[in-house]
Amino acid sequence: MPTVYLGLGANLGKRREMLKAALAQLAAHPAIRVRTVSALLETEPVGGQPGQPHYLNGAAAIETDLEPAALLAELKRIEHDLGRRQGPRWGPRRIDLDILLYGRLILETAELTIPHPRLRERRFVLEPLSRIAPDAIDPVTGLTVRELAARLDAAT
Ligand code: ATP
Ligand code: CA
Ligand code: CA
Repeated sequence: MPTVYLGLGANLGKRREMLKAALAQLAAHPAIRVRTVSALLETEPVGGQPGQPHYLNGAAAIETDLEPAALLAELKRIEHDLGRRQGPRWGPRRIDLDILLYGRLILETAELTIPHPRLRERRFVLEPLSRIAPDAIDPVTGLTVRELAARLDAAT
C-alpha cells in the first residue's frame, strides 16, 4: 500500500476541533489507516481576500487501498460532512483536505494533480510535512521534502 500524505487546513470556527474531526473520520474509514499526524501550526493565509483569519495547518501520513480519485471523493465527503460549502477559491473555510503526495505517483487529470501542484512553494505545507516525512520524495523534482523546504527557505 502506498503511503499518502495529506495536507490539512482550517481557518474558520473551531479550527483544532475541525482538524481533529477530519482525522477521526479518516481513521474510521475501513480502507484508510492514519499513520502519523504532524503538530498543527498557525500560519498566515496565503492568497485569497485580505484580512482572513489565520490558518491552522497540519499534515498526515496515511495508508490506503483507495485509488487517488476515490480518496479525493472521500476527502470531499468529509469536508462536506464537516460543514464546508462552496466558497471562493482560497477563501476562508472550515476544513481543507488536500492530497500532497501519493507514493511516487505522478497524475494529472482535470480533477486531480498529484503531487499537489503548489506543494513546492508553500511553507505552510512543507513545514508540517517536513516534520513527519523529511525524506519523502517529490517524484516530479526527485527532491526530498527536506530539500524542497530548504530550497524554499533559500529563495525567500
Ligand atoms: P489549492 O489547490 O491551491 O490548495 P484549494 O485547496 O483551496 O486550493 P479547493 O477549492 O479545495 O482548492 O479544491 C479545488 C479542486 O482542486 C478540487 O475540487 C479538486 O478536484 C482539485 N484538486 C486537484 N489536485 C488536488 C489535490 N492534489 N488534492 C486535492 N484537490 C485537488
Ligand atoms: Ca488547499
Ligand atoms: Ca482543497
